[in-house]
Amino acid sequence: MALEQLEKCAKIMNLDPNIHEILKYPKRVLCVYIPVRMDNGKIKVFKGFRSQHNDALGPFKGGIRYHPNVTMDEVIALSMWMTWKCSVVGLPYGGGKGGVICNPKEMSIGEIERLSRGYFYAISKIVGPEIDIPAGDVNTSSREMAWFMDEYSKLKGYNVPGTITGKPVEIGGSEGRTEATGLGVAIVGREAAKCLGINLKGAKVVVQGFGNVGYYSAYFLEKLGCKIIGVSDSRGGIYNKEGLKLDAVREFKAKTGSVVGFPGAEVITNEDLLELECDILVPSALENQITEKNANRIKAKLILEGANGPTTPEADEILHKRGVMVAPDILANAGGVSVSYFEWVQNLQGYYWSKEEVFDKLDKLLVKAFNKVYRIYEEYKVDMRMAAYVCAVSRVAEAMKIRGWV
Ligand code: NAD
Repeated sequence: MALEQLEKCAKIMNLDPNIHEILKYPKRVLCVYIPVRMDNGKIKVFKGFRSQHNDALGPFKGGIRYHPNVTMDEVIALSMWMTWKCSVVGLPYGGGKGGVICNPKEMSIGEIERLSRGYFYAISKIVGPEIDIPAGDVNTSSREMAWFMDEYSKLKGYNVPGTITGKPVEIGGSEGRTEATGLGVAIVGREAAKCLGINLKGAKVVVQGFGNVGYYSAYFLEKLGCKIIGVSDSRGGIYNKEGLKLDAVREFKAKTGSVVGFPGAEVITNEDLLELECDILVPSALENQITEKNANRIKAKLILEGANGPTTPEADEILHKRGVMVAPDILANAGGVSVSYFEWVQNLQGYYWSKEEVFDKLDKLLVKAFNKVYRIYEEYKVDMRMAAYVCAVSRVAEAMKIRGWV
């Protein structure tokens, strides 16, 4: 899929075939075997990877995931997507990604810590603030980031907070990182709504997924005047056309484990939720939610991709023909990596910003990126996803040319 998208983009923008050839491959992939002493006293060896796709614009950047289904090809593809995501928002980074084949749900905290330290030690030669700056991803959080940072600092003999982002605030994490992705979704939504002539005061919004991205997207869209009429989680959805009280829904989910059953709201399925009458739809749970099967029945005028890959290429085509704008993941959910960049900047300078400063800088960064993509969208007459790709690939290609790589 990553290669197909690059191919499509290369045709549209008439990309130099030599640059295209280089971009098809990562610059480096490291495969490591990590011996971990398990709680039963036996050693188990885990396999992990770190893929570094392209560093024409700056050091590699991208998360590390822990999952039984991790493969080398998946990690490579994800590192290519990170190159585009960093480029589209104008960050001075290239793309990287890491993964370890493991099931942390079946491991003790001690085993996860020993695995995390072992993995970071194994990749330590190719990471660092000037080389590659990993972060969290599926099944890794600020807890693992703290272990990674500590392990790397021990190796160096001094504190190196800038080697990893997504750390707890106490050891150099950034204010505002928790809210960043959802805030970014709302900022991109605000700019897209202006272009589409959607008045956000009273605009009806439906959000699939009520986790970190879903909740904060809803929270900031509500602050902009929107009415959140539907939300969901893995157990199902709830709907109230008069609007839901977000804080109350959040409290209810914290107590009961789900949004389903929230008093005064109708229960609906996740499938029906996506097809509700609304102005803005925010898929922020899983990939492949909007497909050729339901794209024709989507009523929203604007889709903000909080999740990665929620819309299939077939659905993209249908939606584009129907005049529904899809703000693509690499732009709409780039608030997270952008504040990761801010975290690294703060670590390097040893000077820390308030949450307001972080939010303000994020707003400016994403408005600039949105406008750039929107201009390409108008000029090339492609959908917003391809416009974002053209924007991202052009910037990387330009840097490669200037550096004399082709
Ligand atoms: P999360 O675990 O906090 O929340 C996920 C939510 O989705 C939960 O509410 C869960 O119940 C719900 N969910 C799971 N299966 C579902 C289903 N079948 N139908 C409806 N809801 C379902 O995760 P998150 O951090 O909010 O990430 C969500 C998505 O956003 C992922 O695709 C992730 O890769 C992407 N993303 C996250 C960030 C970030 O900073 N957290 C940044 C960029 C992209």
